[in-house]
Amino acid sequence: FTTAIVGVLIALSIIALVLSLVKIEDVTLPPAVKYGMVFDAGSSHTCLFVYEWDSDKENDTGVVSQTLSCDVQGQYPPAMGSVLPWWAIPISLSQPDSLPGQGISSYANDPPKAGDSLRECLDKALKVIPAAKQRDVPAYLGATAGMRLLREQNSSAADQVLAEVAKTMREYPVAFKRARILTGEEEGAYGWITINYLLDSFTKYSPKAHTWVRPEAANIFGALDLGGASTQISFMPEGSVINWNEASKFTLYGYNYNIYTHSYLCYGQNEMLKRLAKQLIVESSSSMRVDHPCYPKDYNETVLLSSFRASPCTNRSDAGLTLSDRNVTLEGRGNASGCLAAVKKLFNFSACGQSQDCTFDGVYQPPVSGQFIAFSAFYYNFKFLNLTEGQSLATVRETIEHFCTRSWEDLSSSYPKENPERLPKYCANANYILTLLLDAYKFNETSWNNIFFQMKAGSADIGWMLGYMLNLTNMIPAEAPVWVKGHVP
Ligand code: AMP
Repeated sequence: FTTAIVGVLIALSIIALVLSLVKIEDVTLPPAVKYGMVFDAGSSHTCLFVYEWDSDKENDTGVVSQTLSCDVQGQYPPAMGSVLPWWAIPISLSQPDSLPGQGISSYANDPPKAGDSLRECLDKALKVIPAAKQRDVPAYLGATAGMRLLREQNSSAADQVLAEVAKTMREYPVAFKRARILTGEEEGAYGWITINYLLDSFTKYSPKAHTWVRPEAANIFGALDLGGASTQISFMPEGSVINWNEASKFTLYGYNYNIYTHSYLCYGQNEMLKRLAKQLIVESSSSMRVDHPCYPKDYNETVLLSSFRASPCTNRSDAGLTLSDRNVTLEGRGNASGCLAAVKKLFNFSACGQSQDCTFDGVYQPPVSGQFIAFSAFYYNFKFLNLTEGQSLATVRETIEHFCTRSWEDLSSSYPKENPERLPKYCANANYILTLLLDAYKFNETSWNNIFFQMKAGSADIGWMLGYMLNLTNMIPAEAPVWVKGHVP
């Protein structure tokens, strides 16, 4: 018995010794991860973005990261017997493999298909979000200019498409919130919020001051977005606000921001290309063969005139051009200066008179100020042309001029991997970008250097989607965050 007691005492002393050597720390549970999802239903395609963040950092900037981006696949060729709506008709008939636009607006004749098109990406999203959290995931769909145009053309078809995408989203075990068409100004403003959130421009935690501080005003970036059907400019102008229709006011993290934002419908890249083709046909007195200065030499494209009819951007009847079922062949001429001149005619600059605070069509814009991020098609085109590394305006002009003179044979053999639908369009697109930035928005040789062509900030794509979600989930507080003792970011 005595031996047993001695044994127990020895064992207890050993345990006590071990415990005294091992410092037991308080264990804190890892913060819960939250998720959110947004469909970007653009004019030419739809993409699903899934975001995640730590719940205990919800109100800080720059803490949301992108978990997944999923491109919604289009269907081509269309089902037998189905009639392609105008917005899905490729203007080029010479390329049988050309893909029609596959934004949700392209399903106007068969709205349930718009809903079905989202399933693959919703399934993928559920694979990356833990099952226990799915029911709490706020899910949004925002549609942009493609749907704005469809609503102008056929508002009940637009409503049906939205109803179908909402119906599909409701079938999934997520917290469906809304499917709606954003206004152009919302699209611009949310893009501006996304950029400045991702780049930590709104507020930063200063470990020295133990508080949140606003970085210099100079660190607030402007946003330049070029989509398929519309384009947006948003920035914080210098000086006082004068009577803007385009003003957006926000209070973010305790500071007020007055933002100028404007969206131009029909000035997205795809609509611009269609308007350019139509203008060239009208100017040539509607002959069967028409010179296209922006297309490469030896490249031809056949256009069905009636394809212009139904688009709100091209359906106006012009003197001498009936939008019949007749074909016209556009013949590439590879003429750089001719291309720039033709593109400039797409803008009504004279409506501004002598006013400097005016872009075109009489639209007011204060002088651009600060640094800008140019994304979406601004980025795609300049990336293709290797112009995203801060090249000077002179270099950019030279590169574009030279590219525009290259023949189709030269281009198609030099870029065998490039989409043959996109390759002949870069000259027109690049000249369009120059005209928009320089002649309309009035960037100059100096301010050109303040434009950064970027598609991502950190690991997240730039666009209106993140800003939209942050706003609707109240993740950007109007009040400055309070510093909680013990909570060191
Ligand atoms: P989105 O951002 O989808 O609205 O597209 C904006 C414009 O960029 C549309 O005119 C698209 O056709 C075009 N686009 C989309 N992806 C690419 C790409 N990878 N390269 C060149 N252009 C693109």
